[in-house]
Amino acid sequence: MNLFPYTPRKSQMAIMQTIKNTLVSEGDMVFESGTGSGKTICTLTSTLEYALENNKKIIYTTRTNAQQRQVILELRAIRNKNKDIEEKIFGVGIQGRSNMCLLARNDPEFSNGAAEELSKFCSNEKKKAKSTKKDKDKGCIYYRNSLDKEKVDSTIEWVNQNLPTAEEFIDFCEKKQLCPYEINKLLIRKSSLVVVPYVYVFDLMIRNMLFDCLSCPEEDMILVVDEAHNLPNYIRDSFSAQLSMYMLNSCVMEAEKYGDPSIADGKLSISDFCKVLIDIVRDLRDTYVYGILENGIRTGPPRNNDAFIPSHEFETEILSRLKITSKTLHDIVGDLMVYGEKIQEYCQKDGKLPRSYLHKLGLFLDFWISLEMNQYAKLVVDARNGKNPRIEAFCLDPSVGTGIIRDFHSSIHMSGTLEPLEEYRDSMDLGENIELVSYPSPFPKENRRIFFVRDVTTKYDEILRDEKILSKMRNHITSICNTFQKNTMVFFPSFNIMSMFKENGDFNGINRCLYVEDQEMSQTALMDLVSDFKGHGDEDGDGAALFSVMGGRISEGMDFPAEQLEIAVIVGIPYPKPTARQRGLQRYYDMKFRKGWEYTVEAPTARKLLQSIGRLIRDENDRGVAVILDRRASRFKRYIRDLQESKNLMEDMKSFMEK
Ligand code: SF4
Repeated sequence: MNLFPYTPRKSQMAIMQTIKNTLVSEGDMVFESGTGSGKTICTLTSTLEYALENNKKIIYTTRTNAQQRQVILELRAIRNKNKDIEEKIFGVGIQGRSNMCLLARNDPEFSNGAAEELSKFCSNEKKKAKSTKKDKDKGCIYYRNSLDKEKVDSTIEWVNQNLPTAEEFIDFCEKKQLCPYEINKLLIRKSSLVVVPYVYVFDLMIRNMLFDCLSCPEEDMILVVDEAHNLPNYIRDSFSAQLSMYMLNSCVMEAEKYGDPSIADGKLSISDFCKVLIDIVRDLRDTYVYGILENGIRTGPPRNNDAFIPSHEFETEILSRLKITSKTLHDIVGDLMVYGEKIQEYCQKDGKLPRSYLHKLGLFLDFWISLEMNQYAKLVVDARNGKNPRIEAFCLDPSVGTGIIRDFHSSIHMSGTLEPLEEYRDSMDLGENIELVSYPSPFPKENRRIFFVRDVTTKYDEILRDEKILSKMRNHITSICNTFQKNTMVFFPSFNIMSMFKENGDFNGINRCLYVEDQEMSQTALMDLVSDFKGHGDEDGDGAALFSVMGGRISEGMDFPAEQLEIAVIVGIPYPKPTARQRGLQRYYDMKFRKGWEYTVEAPTARKLLQSIGRLIRDENDRGVAVILDRRASRFKRYIRDLQESKNLMEDMKSFMEK
């Protein structure tokens, strides 16, 4: 079988052969291949060939909806090229329920619902629709229509013929007034490929639902993880838990709305209990983040907005302030969950989202009290400028969520920026036998230059010592933007640093059309801004400048082929801030692998740099130059092999551009 729909490059043949070997040996593989090298099509083709020949299914996980769309478009290309077996080449894209549930996505309250809330809401709507078939006003209308076999069959036929992306499928169902989520369940069973967000594999409840629909054992499934460099942080976040002041205030309001029952053998009401928790969270913040001593004296300005707290301090404070035993505290946690469930039922009966803050509080306390500390750090965080402090159980070790990977027939993990591959393997606990491969860029080396300069840095101490550094930095940015009539992107390490430059008037000397990304910008506004910027690079365009940040929505996910981007300027090295969370991670990786700095500071920083530089070259005809404005860039030669120092930046850039 040879399903590849284009003429493959040599490097693509090598990728496909290694994937094939991995699948045959039922192994696992982690690989890095630069942006634009065709990872998606290579992986899709080789896993699909194997799946069709060996009766397997592919679970292809992506981080964003745009990546998911790309996979479905490539599947269509494969099918168009292989007409003789087109009926076998079938797959579906699935998004989260908040996008696929038509009742939820058109309602501001429901569209923010958590997966569990939406699932309960949906079950109830379906129950009502089934039990009151004659009453057309009860239950979900989209579900009711989805019980009509004729309508469903014609929709499945349309999907068969068109292989729609998830967005196209949802639009089609909306026009037909059918539930896309329910119909997708039918489609999943006959698919060789399902393309899903990470949550469908790494959240137990959602995974069970998916696997039930697939009705095939894990050992007959192949897992693909796209943009794998995002997965460890994704798992850390989803296995962490937080309790904020806003959440506790919502608990107080909810308790008062529903009669504020008493707990702890009638000693106090639920709202009083929550108010005590609010005081404790605030006091922990004052003590550990602000450094305020018992006598009210502050030990100095906070260095960061978070701090470690001793592992049992929160619950010890609860016991001592309320004068209760740990047994009573456990009873309170149980009561909160029971009351919370009742409130969820009331909401459901009222046709509302079954949401209860008290239920969430019960779950959080239960988790917090029974937490095994070796894979977690307990923190207090001062968010929203002091208005919303929170405590947080931060998951340090993503391997808490990766056990499922071993159950698959094979797993393929890929990214354009994953070096050092050992870090990913170790963090995810994928075992020593996994295949690690790094493919060189298939594009001509002479099409890309990466310079760095030594006269500037964004290192905080040095900026404080030498006030000329920032003006030199400004001169570099201004000269590059004003000299070359090419589309230029300037990436800052953070929105804060970008604002600092902006407020200093450092952008005023730029004589080009200038676009600046705003952190709060909606996705639509951002897309409009990017599309205007791209327009300046098109043939006969005068070239514009776009200022953005590393690790953001532009540097990590958007394509700028040909003249849409020819110069990338990187302002400083985007090292992570030395927050308590970051220090906790570094310490944990030091203890576990003796590689704290390398795995938690150097590697993520290199990935951010490479992601930004990676916007320049998307195919063999693209040309571009990147400039890193920071002397510390020399430390990243191991990751950026074609990095070279420039002693005369403008001349070096000119000579490259004129070639
Ligand atoms: S049946 Fe579909 S549209 Fe109706 S509530 Fe459930 S997911 Fe939403």
